[in-house]
Amino acid sequence: MNSEDEELRLSRLYQYNLLDTPEDDTFDRITRLVSALLDVPIALITLVDRDRQWFKSKQGLGISETPRSQSFCAHTMIGQGPMVVQDASLDARFVDNPLVTGHPGIRFYAGIPLRAADGTPLGALCAIDSSPREIDSRQLKLLADLANLTMEQFELRLLATLDGLTGAMRRSSFLATAARDMVPALQRGSPLSCLMIDADNFKNLNDQFGHAVGDEALVAIAKAIRDQLRRGDSLGRMGGEEFCVFLPGTELSGAISVAERMRMAIADISLQTGTGDVGVTASIGAAVMLSTDSGPSDLIQRADVALYDAKNSGRNRVAA
Ligand code: GH3
Ligand code: MG
Ligand code: MG
Repeated sequence: MNSEDEELRLSRLYQYNLLDTPEDDTFDRITRLVSALLDVPIALITLVDRDRQWFKSKQGLGISETPRSQSFCAHTMIGQGPMVVQDASLDARFVDNPLVTGHPGIRFYAGIPLRAADGTPLGALCAIDSSPREIDSRQLKLLADLANLTMEQFELRLLATLDGLTGAMRRSSFLATAARDMVPALQRGSPLSCLMIDADNFKNLNDQFGHAVGDEALVAIAKAIRDQLRRGDSLGRMGGEEFCVFLPGTELSGAISVAERMRMAIADISLQTGTGDVGVTASIGAAVMLSTDSGPSDLIQRADVALYDAKNSGRNRVAA
């Protein structure tokens, strides 16, 4: 996987908001079932982060993460199907692995990739034993069923982080994602831009044409915004008719171009009402991350100031 693909994979993984979350009985039930059905001492739900594998659930293992370089599941997640290692001490890929040579002394490993709906690899569900062994097709099928259940739970939880009307992230999950986007950008000095987008005179639209038309406008605005995003960008609904976009890897000039395209796409929206078609516009404030920013709120606040300028200088425009 090249580094650009890896960045996209990570941003997709982070959208699920699973890393470093508390223990959760739903997932512990799944690993308990793996352990019982396959009769193995260790069962894990692994998520592969930038430099580590983190266990969303673990049976038979006291640690919550290991370095990624030691991860069997990092191999599993990029494979096409299950990965089975009958004896890791005889496998060139793993013979020197500290998890094989030392604690917990892995010999047998069977893992099923956990992949997002779009195919993005996130991690694996795995069964581990300290003795070499085999796995039959019935057991492998059970493991695959449990991996599907795990992934379905991930998807349901992701859905719960989204705003039901527009499909944008809810404010709280957007802010969590935005905070995580900033860490690698700050560390590596790569650019990151933010857009604040607010529908113009939206109260009038609601008052004149009704709340249902207003809702339709919000759905159309979110789509117009999303159509301009790349994988790795994120969109949050911050309040009623206000959206925020984070654009990792994008300089201010690029963000302004994106914003201008969004502004035009929004101005092209035509909503059908009982008294004819009606349009909608939005104002957009753009800002770029500074090395002194301590979190997303600093950046968002600068974009908000720019938005205020866009409103004050006549609306339906982009300001930075
Ligand atoms: P400005 O150009 O200065 O942004 O004016 P505005 O009217 O858009 O701003 P204001 O903040 O006064 O009004 C926002 C309106 O958005 C008020 C509220 O009725 C409407 N609104 C908020 N959430 C929703 C929603 O979910 N659906 C609909 N239809 N309207 C909403
Ligand atoms: Mg408004
Ligand atoms: Mg507003």
